[in-house]
Amino acid sequence: MSCPCKYVFGPVPSRRLGRSLGLDLVPFKTCTFDCLYCQLGRTTDLTVKRKPYVPSQAVLEELDRYLKTGIRPDYITFSGSGEPTLNSDLGCLIAAVKRRTRIPVAVLTNASLLWKPAVRDALAAADVVLPSLSAGNSRIFHLVNRPHSDLKYGLMLEGLLKFAHQFKGKIWFEVFLLKGITSMEKEVERLAKVARKINPSRIQLNTVIRPPSDPLAKPVSTEKMRHLAFQFGRNAEILPDFHASRGSKSRTGEATGIKALLGRRPCTLSDIAQGLHISHSEALKILGKLIEQKSVVSKRQNGQAFFTTIGAQGENR
Ligand code: SF4
Repeated sequence: MSCPCKYVFGPVPSRRLGRSLGLDLVPFKTCTFDCLYCQLGRTTDLTVKRKPYVPSQAVLEELDRYLKTGIRPDYITFSGSGEPTLNSDLGCLIAAVKRRTRIPVAVLTNASLLWKPAVRDALAAADVVLPSLSAGNSRIFHLVNRPHSDLKYGLMLEGLLKFAHQFKGKIWFEVFLLKGITSMEKEVERLAKVARKINPSRIQLNTVIRPPSDPLAKPVSTEKMRHLAFQFGRNAEILPDFHASRGSKSRTGEATGIKALLGRRPCTLSDIAQGLHISHSEALKILGKLIEQKSVVSKRQNGQAFFTTIGAQGENR
Protein backbone atom coordinates (compact mmCIF):
# COMPACT_ATOMS: atom_id res chain seq x y z
CA MET A 1 0.00 0.00 0.00
CA SER A 2 1.42 3.38 -0.94
CA CYS A 3 0.80 6.23 1.45
CA PRO A 4 -0.45 9.45 -0.12
CA CYS A 5 -0.16 10.92 3.38
CA LYS A 6 1.12 14.35 4.23
CA TYR A 7 1.44 14.04 7.99
CA VAL A 8 1.77 10.29 8.63
CA PHE A 9 4.96 8.63 7.36
CA GLY A 10 6.77 5.32 7.56
CA PRO A 11 7.00 3.12 9.45
CA VAL A 12 10.59 4.33 9.49
CA PRO A 13 13.42 2.16 10.81
CA SER A 14 14.37 3.81 14.09
CA ARG A 15 17.43 2.71 16.04
CA ARG A 16 15.60 3.56 19.25
CA LEU A 17 11.98 2.68 18.52
CA GLY A 18 12.12 -0.22 16.08
CA ARG A 19 9.49 0.30 13.37
CA SER A 20 8.15 3.73 14.11
CA LEU A 21 5.11 5.28 12.43
CA GLY A 22 5.77 9.01 12.32
CA LEU A 23 3.29 11.84 12.80
CA ASP A 24 4.71 15.10 11.54
CA LEU A 25 3.17 18.14 13.23
CA VAL A 26 5.20 21.01 11.78
CA PRO A 27 6.09 22.15 8.24
CA PHE A 28 9.51 21.10 6.95
CA LYS A 29 12.36 22.42 9.06
CA THR A 30 10.34 24.38 11.60
CA CYS A 31 12.42 24.19 14.75
CA THR A 32 13.61 26.03 17.85
CA PHE A 33 17.18 24.97 16.98
CA ASP A 34 19.40 24.86 13.90
CA CYS A 35 21.78 22.08 14.99
CA LEU A 36 25.15 21.51 13.36
CA TYR A 37 24.36 17.80 13.11
CA CYS A 38 20.78 18.06 11.81
CA GLN A 39 20.17 15.55 9.05
CA LEU A 40 17.29 17.64 7.70
CA GLY A 41 19.54 20.50 6.61
CA ARG A 42 19.44 24.10 7.86
CA THR A 43 16.40 25.33 9.80
CA THR A 44 14.31 27.58 7.56
CA ASP A 45 11.79 28.62 10.23
CA LEU A 46 13.69 29.19 13.48
CA THR A 47 10.90 29.90 15.93
CA VAL A 48 9.60 29.44 19.47
CA LYS A 49 6.02 30.25 18.53
CA ARG A 50 3.59 27.49 19.49
CA LYS A 51 0.56 27.17 17.26
CA PRO A 52 -1.47 24.52 15.39
CA TYR A 53 0.92 24.30 12.44
CA VAL A 54 -1.03 21.54 10.69
CA PRO A 55 -4.74 20.60 10.73
CA SER A 56 -5.22 18.02 13.53
CA GLN A 57 -8.27 16.56 11.84
CA ALA A 58 -6.28 15.74 8.71
CA VAL A 59 -3.52 14.11 10.81
CA LEU A 60 -6.09 11.90 12.54
CA GLU A 61 -7.86 11.00 9.29
CA GLU A 62 -4.55 9.84 7.83
CA LEU A 63 -3.81 7.86 10.99
CA ASP A 64 -7.26 6.23 10.86
CA ARG A 65 -6.59 5.17 7.27
CA TYR A 66 -3.27 3.69 8.30
CA LEU A 67 -4.69 1.85 11.32
CA LYS A 68 -7.36 0.25 9.12
CA THR A 69 -4.59 -1.61 7.26
CA GLY A 70 -3.99 -3.69 10.39
CA ILE A 71 -0.24 -3.10 10.13
CA ARG A 72 1.21 -2.61 13.59
CA PRO A 73 4.31 -0.48 14.06
CA ASP A 74 6.24 -0.73 17.35
CA TYR A 75 5.52 2.92 18.19
CA ILE A 76 3.50 5.86 16.94
CA THR A 77 6.00 8.67 17.16
CA PHE A 78 5.58 12.43 17.07
CA SER A 79 8.65 13.55 15.16
CA GLY A 80 9.53 14.48 11.59
CA SER A 81 10.36 17.79 9.98
CA GLY A 82 11.21 19.81 13.09
CA GLU A 83 10.33 20.18 16.79
CA PRO A 84 6.92 18.59 17.55
CA THR A 85 6.34 20.47 20.83
CA LEU A 86 5.98 23.65 18.75
CA ASN A 87 2.54 22.38 17.75
CA SER A 88 0.06 23.65 20.34
CA ASP A 89 -2.33 20.77 19.55
CA LEU A 90 0.21 18.13 20.59
CA GLY A 91 -1.54 17.21 23.87
CA CYS A 92 -4.96 16.80 22.19
CA LEU A 93 -3.38 14.74 19.41
CA ILE A 94 -1.63 12.39 21.85
CA ALA A 95 -4.96 11.88 23.64
CA ALA A 96 -6.73 11.26 20.31
CA VAL A 97 -4.13 8.66 19.26
CA LYS A 98 -4.49 6.88 22.60
CA ARG A 99 -8.27 6.70 22.14
CA ARG A 100 -7.73 4.94 18.80
CA THR A 101 -5.04 2.36 19.50
CA ARG A 102 -2.96 0.62 22.14
CA ILE A 103 0.22 1.10 20.13
CA PRO A 104 2.52 3.04 22.47
CA VAL A 105 3.04 6.72 21.79
CA ALA A 106 6.52 8.25 21.75
CA VAL A 107 7.60 11.87 21.37
CA LEU A 108 11.04 12.97 20.19
CA THR A 109 11.93 16.42 21.47
CA ASN A 110 14.96 18.67 21.65
CA ALA A 111 13.77 19.67 25.18
CA SER A 112 13.94 23.38 24.35
CA LEU A 113 10.36 24.19 25.38
CA LEU A 114 9.98 21.98 28.47
CA TRP A 115 10.26 25.06 30.68
CA LYS A 116 6.72 25.89 29.51
CA PRO A 117 4.10 24.23 31.76
CA ALA A 118 1.77 23.82 28.73
CA VAL A 119 4.41 21.72 26.94
CA ARG A 120 4.99 19.51 30.00
CA ASP A 121 1.21 19.03 30.29
CA ALA A 122 0.90 18.20 26.59
CA LEU A 123 3.46 15.40 26.95
CA ALA A 124 1.94 13.91 30.10
CA ALA A 125 -0.10 11.21 28.31
CA ALA A 126 2.77 9.90 26.12
CA ASP A 127 4.24 6.49 26.95
CA VAL A 128 7.82 7.44 26.18
CA VAL A 129 9.45 10.83 25.78
CA LEU A 130 12.90 11.00 24.24
CA PRO A 131 14.50 14.34 25.07
CA SER A 132 17.84 15.08 23.53
CA LEU A 133 20.77 17.07 24.91
CA SER A 134 24.02 17.83 23.15
CA ALA A 135 25.50 20.60 25.29
CA GLY A 136 26.64 20.76 28.89
CA ASN A 137 26.90 24.55 29.02
CA SER A 138 25.67 27.69 27.34
CA ARG A 139 28.72 28.16 25.09
CA ILE A 140 28.45 24.68 23.56
CA PHE A 141 24.66 25.08 23.38
CA HIS A 142 25.07 28.11 21.11
CA LEU A 143 27.84 26.49 19.07
CA VAL A 144 26.08 23.15 18.48
CA ASN A 145 22.34 23.85 18.66
CA ARG A 146 22.30 27.44 17.32
CA PRO A 147 19.03 28.10 19.20
CA HIS A 148 16.38 30.78 18.70
CA SER A 149 17.50 33.96 20.50
CA ASP A 150 14.70 33.65 23.11
CA LEU A 151 16.11 30.35 24.39
CA LYS A 152 18.51 30.23 27.31
CA TYR A 153 20.49 27.14 28.28
CA GLY A 154 19.74 27.45 32.03
CA LEU A 155 16.01 27.77 31.47
CA MET A 156 15.98 24.79 29.12
CA LEU A 157 17.79 22.64 31.67
CA GLU A 158 15.43 23.73 34.44
CA GLY A 159 12.47 22.72 32.26
CA LEU A 160 14.03 19.35 31.46
CA LEU A 161 14.56 18.58 35.15
CA LYS A 162 11.03 19.70 36.08
CA PHE A 163 9.64 17.50 33.34
CA ALA A 164 11.73 14.52 34.48
CA HIS A 165 10.34 14.83 38.01
CA GLN A 166 6.71 15.20 36.90
CA PHE A 167 6.42 12.74 34.01
CA LYS A 168 4.92 9.33 34.86
CA GLY A 169 5.93 7.55 31.64
CA LYS A 170 9.39 6.50 30.53
CA ILE A 171 12.18 8.91 29.66
CA TRP A 172 14.84 7.75 27.25
CA PHE A 173 17.45 10.46 27.38
CA GLU A 174 19.55 10.95 24.28
CA VAL A 175 23.01 12.47 24.57
CA PHE A 176 24.35 13.55 21.20
CA LEU A 177 28.14 13.68 21.01
CA LEU A 178 30.33 15.38 18.42
CA LYS A 179 34.00 14.67 17.82
CA GLY A 180 36.27 17.45 19.06
CA ILE A 181 33.34 19.47 20.46
CA THR A 182 31.62 17.35 23.12
CA SER A 183 33.63 14.15 23.08
CA MET A 184 36.21 15.39 25.60
CA GLU A 185 35.90 13.94 29.12
CA LYS A 186 35.30 17.37 30.69
CA GLU A 187 32.34 18.07 28.37
CA VAL A 188 31.01 14.53 28.73
CA GLU A 189 31.11 14.86 32.53
CA ARG A 190 28.85 17.93 32.33
CA LEU A 191 26.33 15.96 30.27
CA ALA A 192 26.63 12.96 32.60
CA LYS A 193 25.85 15.21 35.56
CA VAL A 194 22.60 16.32 33.89
CA ALA A 195 21.76 12.68 33.11
CA ARG A 196 22.24 11.71 36.77
CA LYS A 197 19.81 14.43 37.84
CA ILE A 198 17.20 13.32 35.28
CA ASN A 199 17.61 9.67 36.26
CA PRO A 200 15.98 8.39 33.03
CA SER A 201 14.99 4.77 32.29
CA ARG A 202 17.62 4.76 29.54
CA ILE A 203 20.53 6.93 28.50
CA GLN A 204 21.23 6.57 24.80
CA LEU A 205 24.47 7.88 23.38
CA ASN A 206 24.32 8.99 19.79
CA THR A 207 26.66 10.59 17.27
CA VAL A 208 26.61 11.63 13.62
CA ILE A 209 25.40 8.71 11.50
CA ARG A 210 23.61 10.44 8.63
CA PRO A 211 24.94 13.38 6.58
CA PRO A 212 24.84 16.49 8.85
CA SER A 213 23.78 20.02 7.92
CA ASP A 214 27.27 21.37 8.76
CA PRO A 215 30.61 19.65 8.01
CA LEU A 216 31.82 20.75 11.48
CA ALA A 217 29.67 17.95 12.91
CA LYS A 218 31.93 14.89 12.99
CA PRO A 219 31.15 11.44 14.40
CA VAL A 220 32.78 10.06 17.54
CA SER A 221 34.29 6.61 16.93
CA THR A 222 32.48 3.59 18.34
CA GLU A 223 35.49 2.76 20.48
CA LYS A 224 35.49 6.22 22.03
CA MET A 225 31.70 6.08 22.51
CA ARG A 226 32.11 2.80 24.41
CA HIS A 227 34.73 4.38 26.62
CA LEU A 228 32.60 7.51 27.26
CA ALA A 229 29.52 5.41 28.06
CA PHE A 230 31.12 4.43 31.39
CA GLN A 231 30.82 8.03 32.57
CA PHE A 232 27.03 7.75 32.30
CA GLY A 233 26.66 4.68 34.50
CA ARG A 234 24.92 1.36 34.16
CA ASN A 235 21.83 2.30 32.14
CA ALA A 236 23.80 4.01 29.37
CA GLU A 237 23.90 2.41 25.95
CA ILE A 238 25.26 3.28 22.55
CA LEU A 239 22.41 3.40 20.08
CA PRO A 240 22.13 0.01 18.44
CA ASP A 241 21.75 -0.75 14.77
CA PHE A 242 18.15 -1.01 13.69
CA HIS A 243 16.51 -4.43 13.63
CA ALA A 244 12.87 -4.61 12.56
CA SER A 245 10.61 -6.37 15.03
CA ARG A 246 9.79 -9.87 14.04
CA GLY A 247 6.35 -10.85 12.94
CA SER A 248 5.09 -7.37 12.11
CA LYS A 249 3.19 -7.16 8.90
CA SER A 250 4.39 -4.67 6.35
CA ARG A 251 3.43 -2.35 3.57
CA THR A 252 4.72 -3.03 0.13
CA GLY A 253 7.54 -0.86 -1.11
CA GLU A 254 6.21 1.61 -3.56
CA ALA A 255 7.92 4.72 -4.81
CA THR A 256 5.65 7.08 -2.88
CA GLY A 257 6.34 5.25 0.39
CA ILE A 258 10.09 5.45 -0.20
CA LYS A 259 9.88 9.12 -1.15
CA ALA A 260 7.83 9.92 1.98
CA LEU A 261 10.45 8.13 4.08
CA LEU A 262 13.43 9.83 2.43
CA GLY A 263 11.75 13.22 2.61
CA ARG A 264 12.05 13.06 6.42
CA ARG A 265 15.43 11.40 6.85
CA PRO A 266 18.29 10.10 4.73
CA CYS A 267 18.33 6.28 4.77
CA THR A 268 20.64 3.51 3.67
CA LEU A 269 19.39 0.76 1.39
CA SER A 270 19.04 -1.51 4.45
CA ASP A 271 17.06 1.15 6.35
CA ILE A 272 14.58 1.34 3.47
CA ALA A 273 14.31 -2.42 3.03
CA GLN A 274 13.89 -3.08 6.76
CA GLY A 275 11.62 -0.12 7.45
CA LEU A 276 9.23 -0.95 4.64
CA HIS A 277 9.76 -4.72 4.84
CA ILE A 278 10.80 -5.16 1.23
CA SER A 279 13.79 -6.93 -0.25
CA HIS A 280 17.03 -5.07 -0.93
CA SER A 281 16.66 -5.72 -4.65
CA GLU A 282 13.09 -4.37 -4.69
CA ALA A 283 14.22 -1.24 -2.83
CA LEU A 284 17.16 -0.86 -5.19
CA LYS A 285 14.96 -1.17 -8.26
CA ILE A 286 12.62 1.58 -7.05
CA LEU A 287 15.54 3.77 -5.96
CA GLY A 288 17.08 3.42 -9.41
CA LYS A 289 13.91 4.76 -10.98
CA LEU A 290 13.67 7.64 -8.49
CA ILE A 291 17.31 8.58 -9.13
CA GLU A 292 16.66 8.48 -12.88
CA GLN A 293 13.66 10.80 -12.36
CA LYS A 294 15.98 13.08 -10.36
CA SER A 295 13.74 12.95 -7.29
CA VAL A 296 16.29 11.07 -5.13
CA VAL A 297 20.07 11.44 -4.77
CA SER A 298 22.68 9.45 -2.86
CA LYS A 299 25.34 10.89 -0.54
CA ARG A 300 28.22 9.22 1.30
CA GLN A 301 28.75 9.51 5.06
CA ASN A 302 31.27 7.37 7.00
CA GLY A 303 31.73 5.17 3.96
CA GLN A 304 28.00 4.39 3.69
CA ALA A 305 25.61 5.49 0.95
CA PHE A 306 22.53 7.39 2.16
CA PHE A 307 19.58 8.19 -0.08
CA THR A 308 17.59 11.38 0.27
CA THR A 309 14.98 13.28 -1.70
CA ILE A 310 15.99 16.36 -3.66
CA GLY A 311 14.90 19.53 -1.89
CA ALA A 312 14.96 17.91 1.55
CA GLN A 313 18.32 16.69 2.78
CA GLY A 314 16.44 14.56 4.72
CA GLU A 315 15.69 11.70 13.42
CA ASN A 316 18.97 12.44 14.41
CA ARG A 317 16.42 12.77 17.09
S1 SF4 B 1 18.47 17.99 14.98
FE1 SF4 B 1 16.38 18.18 15.73
S2 SF4 B 1 16.48 19.92 17.14
FE2 SF4 B 1 18.29 20.06 15.86
S3 SF4 B 1 17.68 21.41 14.15
FE3 SF4 B 1 17.32 19.28 13.50
S4 SF4 B 1 15.17 18.93 13.96
FE4 SF4 B 1 15.80 20.74 15.15
